[in-house]
Amino acid sequence: MAQIAYVNGAYVPLSEAGVNIEDRGYQFADGVYEVCLVVDGQFWDEAGHLARWGRSLDALSIRRPISDRALKIVMNQVVRKNRLDSALVYMQATRGVAPRNHPFPGDAVSPSLVLTARRFRLENSNQIAARGVNVITAPDIRWARVDIKSISLLPNILAKEAAQRAGAGEAWLLRDGAVTEGTSSNAWIVNAAGELVTHPKGHAILGGITRETLLHCAASLQIKVVEKQFSLADAMAAREAFLTSATNLVMPVVKIDEKKIGDGRPGPLTMRLREAYIRECRARAG
Ligand code: PMP
Repeated sequence: MAQIAYVNGAYVPLSEAGVNIEDRGYQFADGVYEVCLVVDGQFWDEAGHLARWGRSLDALSIRRPISDRALKIVMNQVVRKNRLDSALVYMQATRGVAPRNHPFPGDAVSPSLVLTARRFRLENSNQIAARGVNVITAPDIRWARVDIKSISLLPNILAKEAAQRAGAGEAWLLRDGAVTEGTSSNAWIVNAAGELVTHPKGHAILGGITRETLLHCAASLQIKVVEKQFSLADAMAAREAFLTSATNLVMPVVKIDEKKIGDGRPGPLTMRLREAYIRECRARAG
């Protein structure tokens, strides 16, 4: 069955889906995106993702292409039309199509909206989690507003490519000696005191929706969380390490560069948090 994409009001075969070459997303990366997970027909953390979508659009003064209510319908439809039960839904809005010129085009130009859905298998993710992933480190050369989920991702893809070439699943980004986050995930460690440590929210990281829900799970489990910067040395000395994202849920990190974390196997607290996250999302959705 052909995969289906949503492009500006129409559902079209993915292989034929396209945008105008003067779309400002194509010309300038002038747009925002979200990735939402659907498991067994239910959107996880949907409200959080939609709220961040709105914040990213507002931060860049891009109008909402359609209302949140209409967007939810399209999100459901793109999953249904691809006959998927569990999926990653990608949505992207750009400032629209206009002759290439840096300043914003006038209000007459409508934003563009594109959605796709790809199969997700929770069992595959669980299998990866059972082994854990390796990460490498790379300098954080991104701009100063990475809290906006912009489609401008060159530094992220360069670091992710380096990770892949090194046989690692992610790159943790370093700024002024501190680990900010991964190229497409938030970074966490468990320190010697058994506390969770993760970079505070602000302009230097993307405030993950998974991160937010996991903070709630940690509080319910009475696990202490400290939202503060940690160094690469802190990470290397950590008892456990893991990353969070809609795509990875809670994913154990077992090696950073050449250093094994703990005994080199997924940490027990990490796995408890992964289970708690899955339970929480199922409960909220159901
Ligand atoms: N940081 C970055 C840079 C990301 O791209 C992502 C993935 N969207 C995250 C963190 C995790 O965010 P979320 O938990 O909302 O997927």
